Amino acid sequence: MLVIMKNDATEGEIEAVGKSIREMGYTAKPVPGVQRTTICVLGNERRVDSSHIEGLSGVMEVIHVSKPYKLVSREGGKEPIHVRIGNCEFGGTAIPLIAGPCAVEDRGQYLEVADAIKRAGASILRGGAYKPRTSPYSFQGLGEKGLEILAEAREVTGLPVCTEVMDVEHVSLVSEYTDIIQIGMRNMHNYSLLKRVGCQGKPVLLKRGMAATINELLNAAEYIISEGNWNVILCERGIRTFEEQTRNTLDLSAIPIIHELSRLPVIVDPSHACGRWMHVSPLSRAAVAVGADGLMIEVHNHPESALSDGPQSLKPELFEKLVKHLRTIAETVGRTL
Ligand code: PEP
Ligand code: MN
Repeated sequence: MLVIMKNDATEGEIEAVGKSIREMGYTAKPVPGVQRTTICVLGNERRVDSSHIEGLSGVMEVIHVSKPYKLVSREGGKEPIHVRIGNCEFGGTAIPLIAGPCAVEDRGQYLEVADAIKRAGASILRGGAYKPRTSPYSFQGLGEKGLEILAEAREVTGLPVCTEVMDVEHVSLVSEYTDIIQIGMRNMHNYSLLKRVGCQGKPVLLKRGMAATINELLNAAEYIISEGNWNVILCERGIRTFEEQTRNTLDLSAIPIIHELSRLPVIVDPSHACGRWMHVSPLSRAAVAVGADGLMIEVHNHPESALSDGPQSLKPELFEKLVKHLRTIAETVGRTL
């Protein structure tokens, strides 16, 4: 059950509701929001009799939620959650495009590709400074130097940036530099990291684990929101199946299902899903057609010499062409780019 407090509820009223919940034998977890506090009622095995709570001072509404991901669930609130970053909004009519190389490799490379990406029409830049690589001998990212280059690219282009954090101890540093904190596929189940990014205010892009169900993804998002950070964007980036022709299998059905089950925006990363540049454009078009709230696409100025994920990176010219096609598809489904 969720108890939604009024916008002007006092600390005393919130505490009194918590006390009543505890007296009923349940646990109360207040979660602050921008406008109002929501109190999660935990520990009940069946529907709670809410009549007493509903009459308490400061209570706006009581909502019974059957799903374990109470705050994420569509049952928990009628309006979808919109996540705003500068002039971009995820979860509205517009479909923001996040683009950039897999990794920030050096200043010259990054500033050059950032400029081309902006001209092509992307709204957010991406690039890893801390790279989770399958082999310990592969390029691991430039670390803080990479974050500085991202910050410079933001300064020069005026576009917000998105980059991955891999460890709890780097969250403060990364959030000083970035506009969106990415939690990569490998860390979707890292609950201490999820809680840590939930305790700070920067929006979080949460990628679906390679072997995670939609249910597990939504519960991972609940970890972040239950710490008070409601700015969560989900990302479908392909799951591992028996198919070997693609790096992963893009689960496009996850998009309408996530919209049905949750209030959160969900974007698609076709690059990590397919692993080959020639499949990125068709999958991007399909993602927009199926209702994705954004796209994340890897773009590199010299894919053949990229330090990571070159084979799946689009050259800027091809990305620009793709953006034009996506505009038409977006319009057909009542969206804009
Ligand atoms: C990435 O976005 O660069 C990345 C490593 O993605 P994923 O975690 O989805 O593999
Ligand atoms: Mn990559």
